[in-house]
Order: sequence, then structure tokens, then C-alpha cells
Amino acid sequence: ETFQELGLHPDLLKGLFAMGFDKPSKIQEKALPFLLTDPCRVRTSLLHPSFARTAHRDPGRPTNMIGQSQSGTGKTAAFVFTMLTRIDYDLNKPQAISLARSRELARQIMSVITAVSKYTSVRTVYAIKDSLPHDATNVTAQIIVGTPGTMSDLLRHRRHVEVFLLDEVDNMLDQDGLGEQTLCVKNLLRAKQLQVILFSATLPGHVRSYASKIAPNANKIEL
Ligand code: AMP
Repeated sequence: ETFQELGLHPDLLKGLFAMGFDKPSKIQEKALPFLLTDPCRVRTSLLHPSFARTAHRDPGRPTNMIGQSQSGTGKTAAFVFTMLTRIDYDLNKPQAISLARSRELARQIMSVITAVSKYTSVRTVYAIKDSLPHDATNVTAQIIVGTPGTMSDLLRHRRHVEVFLLDEVDNMLDQDGLGEQTLCVKNLLRAKQLQVILFSATLPGHVRSYASKIAPNANKIEL
């Protein structure tokens, strides 16, 4: 399958072709048909015009996703495409947040967003220590990327956040208190329908049970 066939918008295709991605990786091919469909309502603001995926959506299908995928497989791009497809570019409010266990991982995720979104009007902001926006009560960026502690300082009942992304959850759970902090961040989000997308390189028992707690009734995708 090609990126066009997966339904990516021409503005995103330009960005990813400029990065030298010419075809989807395995995890992208498996996860994107699920992820690019808006489970919440019939709105996919940046899906390719020839795609009407939402028209065929099954109301009983899972909203959340748990993906098992090592780093190096292209999962970052998979969830970056998802966020960039799902946000409303005319709404100047946070709508998707991506949590990472460390500042370095947050920076890596941000650099992929910046590259892929080069031809879009998206605005992004960091929520990492020492890099909080000056006016945290008035964030107009559509995507926030950060670490759990700082993110929970920033997010207070954001009603517009509909996509909540967790990367490298197995490593996250190795760090004291980070799993709990992440649950707290999730509990701050008050969207009517929140989609939780979780990736982990490995899914041992404790990660699995945490995953089903934070992303209940998820569609499971394993490589
Ligand atoms: P990740 O698994 O997210 O750590 O990505 C691993 C590497 O693969 C990164 O350097 C990406 O830039 C690259 N990558 C992701 N998707 C693709 C693709 N479809 N084609 C070529 N390279 C890719």
C-alpha cells in the first residue's frame, strides 16, 4: 500500500516525501487504517479528499489502540500522521497531546512533527521542564508534546483534547511514579470522547494491565 492509499492528505504527503519516506512501514500499514478514522465524530479535517472513511465507521468499534512496536519501526511517524490528520486547524486550542517518558524522547517526537507538518499550518508547543509556554492558561497550539509532570501542570480540564498519545510505555513504567502521573494527566482530560493511543516495544504482564487500564477496550495491533 502507498501513503496515498492510506488516505494521507496531500499537504502531509509533501512533508513526508521531503523526508524521504516513500512507502509506509509495516506498523504504519497496520495502524493507520484504524487511526486515521475519527472514532468520535464525522470529522477528519486533513484526510485526503477522495477518502470517506468515516462514512463507513462502525459505531461499535474500539476507540483506543494499543500497539506493540519496537523503536526503529516507524511508530513515531504513525502517530504523528494521526495527530496531524485528526486536529481541526481552524481551532486554536490543544487537541492532541503526546506524552513521552523523557525530554529527549519529547524532542524526537517534536522533530518528526515539525518535519512532517512543514506544509501545514499546525502550531505545536512543548510541555517539558524549563520549556513551558509563558502563558500556560492560554495555549493556542493544537498539539502539545511533553513529559507527564509538566504536562499535568499545563493541562487543566482541556475539553478539546481528543487524542492522547503514549509512547514507549514499557520504559515509562520502569520509572518511579511516571505511570501514576500519566494516569493523572489522562484524568485531567475532559473530552466527551477521548482516544488513547499507546505504543510499547514490549507488552509483559504489568504493561498489559496498565495499558488496559489507561486505554480500555482497545484495538490491539502487534508487529
Ligand atoms: P521510529 O520507529 O519512530 O523510531 O522510527 C525509526 C526511523 O524510521 C526514523 O528515523 C524515521 O524517520 C524512519 N521512518 C519512519 N517511517 C518511515 C517510512 N515510511 N519510510 C522510511 N523511513 C521511515
